[in-house]
Amino acid sequence: MTFDEAGLCESLNRNVTKSGYVKPTPVQKYGIPIISAGRDLMACAQTGIPKTAAFLLPILQRFMTDGVAASKFNEVQEPEAIIVAPTRELINQIYLEARKFAYGTCVRPVVVYGGINTGYTIREVLKGCNVLCGTPGRLLDIIGRGKVGLSKLRYLVLDEADRMLDMGFEPDMRKLVGSPGIPPKEDRQTLMFSATFPEEIQRLAAEFLKVDYLFLA
Ligand code: AMP
Repeated sequence: MTFDEAGLCESLNRNVTKSGYVKPTPVQKYGIPIISAGRDLMACAQTGIPKTAAFLLPILQRFMTDGVAASKFNEVQEPEAIIVAPTRELINQIYLEARKFAYGTCVRPVVVYGGINTGYTIREVLKGCNVLCGTPGRLLDIIGRGKVGLSKLRYLVLDEADRMLDMGFEPDMRKLVGSPGIPPKEDRQTLMFSATFPEEIQRLAAEFLKVDYLFLA
């Protein structure tokens, strides 16, 4: 698969080209068709191998095809996609990539992480948020404050899952996936990425992902 063959709409294609993407990396090449087909995915890729586009592009393309609620101010936001990563650097990088890809579309990505002013973060979220990127603690905080509802969630992405475990985020991940109102795994698409695939990750994948998930290494 090349990016031209990924079935992206014109605006996404333009943004991919503008971002300097030419040849997909293996995770992008094999991940995009699997995710586009609506399947859950557990992918193992070494840290540093570019993979953000592997999940962002099929998600954004689906939003373009099916339509997505236009982002507008609301006291409670109901994002269609949530992306979780362990560190502010990583989640910010994912957010910046999401902004580049979503440029010129009605999709509004927002990023939340510890260390930035909570009031500011909440105001940014309330302005409209289709794709919510965040570190586990801050995501739970905003959900716990009732600012983010989960009933419209279609995609849950857990990036660098093994690092999240190493950093002690397992309880937060479980709390997030078990949040009241979150669609059950049968009704959402869950995508997990990890550099390694130890037993703990296998257990989480079995718990969070649908039984027919695909494994990509
Ligand atoms: P990622 O780790 O997926 O967020 O990618 C890190 C950076 O690598 C991105 O910001 C892009 O600039 C670049 N990149 C990722 N995938 C590709 C690709 N297929 N072709 C060219 N550049 C890429």
